Amino acid sequence: MKVPLLDLKGQYEEIKDEIQEAINEVLDSTRYIMGENVTGLEKEVADYCDVKYGIGVASGTDALLLSLKALEVGPGDEVILPTFTFFATAGVVSRLGAIPVFADIDPVTYNITPEEIEKRITDKTKAIIPVHLYGQPAEMDKIMELAEEHDLKVVEDACQAIGAEYKGEQVGNFGDATALSFFPSKNLGAYGDAGMVLTNDEELAERIKSLRVHGASPKYYHQEVGYNSRLDAIQAAILRVKLKYLDQWTEGRQRVAENYDRLFKEYDLEDKVVTPKKKVDDSTHVYHQYVVRVENRDELQKKLKEKGISSAVYYPVPLHLQECYEDLGYQKGDLPVAEKACGEVLALPIDPELSEEQVEYVVDSINNFYE
Ligand SMILES: *Cc1c(COP(=O)(O)O)cnc(C)c1O
Repeated sequence: MKVPLLDLKGQYEEIKDEIQEAINEVLDSTRYIMGENVTGLEKEVADYCDVKYGIGVASGTDALLLSLKALEVGPGDEVILPTFTFFATAGVVSRLGAIPVFADIDPVTYNITPEEIEKRITDKTKAIIPVHLYGQPAEMDKIMELAEEHDLKVVEDACQAIGAEYKGEQVGNFGDATALSFFPSKNLGAYGDAGMVLTNDEELAERIKSLRVHGASPKYYHQEVGYNSRLDAIQAAILRVKLKYLDQWTEGRQRVAENYDRLFKEYDLEDKVVTPKKKVDDSTHVYHQYVVRVENRDELQKKLKEKGISSAVYYPVPLHLQECYEDLGYQKGDLPVAEKACGEVLALPIDPELSEEQVEYVVDSINNFYE
């Protein structure tokens, strides 16, 4: 049996006709950059996420970058973010000349904690970037309280968490701005790079719209130096088709996750395999990844591979120990919870179409390994 992490080919086969029709329409229109598919997608994604404005940009990375830039993050400013996230969350801070300040995570949710943020607030702190890692919202109540108390900006990194809810409200409704990624393997994935900024602040939305076209508004009149970060019309057309299926795919991921949870219990593996847990009631997890913590992770991963089961490690090295951040002076042991997680986490196959038999095969194979 083969169990892929994510079966993009299978997904494409199911919606192929609709996708090709949408792409052909764009080709026939000769409107390849921006245009009605982009504005249409912006409105549809904003509606889906229950926010007022969506601004399509070239990637999730750029969604973060333009948000921070529009919030006046610049040279010398400190921005607090988790050390356990995809590199882009920190890279954008550095690119603006600001300083990433790395914080440790909660051992259960893998998200940045309010306590860890509070410890690192200084006179120079300008913003916080909570990441809703693996599809589970960070503790936004307390994070927003801290932000208000210290007059800090908040950019939610929801690149892995489109549609997830925190205390009954969707991610994207807490911070000043929120970044979404449509990288192909994300829950809502394009067929190339694409991203979007969400915000409820009209002025900020206008500024980000201008920043994505070289800081011009109207065209050829530049108020500031911006970027070229537009969303392609073909990607927007593809995403408009795929958005209609997002709820169904999210439910598929949640069903697969429930099957894993149940089977790990039935196999009595709970002391060997730490499954993902929720910490906040009235919140949802959209399972961009289903990540377990295990002993002998690397050997288990090898064994699973031999059995046709794909898995992945997100992330093997915390950001504070990356070579490019050596100058910041962090040492091994500074952020121990994240460092430990890097050696133990393993993302199991979470394709929305996985059958119960496939999930059982994965759990059974893990069981064999620990027997
Ligand atoms: C994917 C991702 C990004 C970057 O998105 P791109 O579209 O690849 O630029 C940023 N942050 C997190 C947490 C991500 O998972």
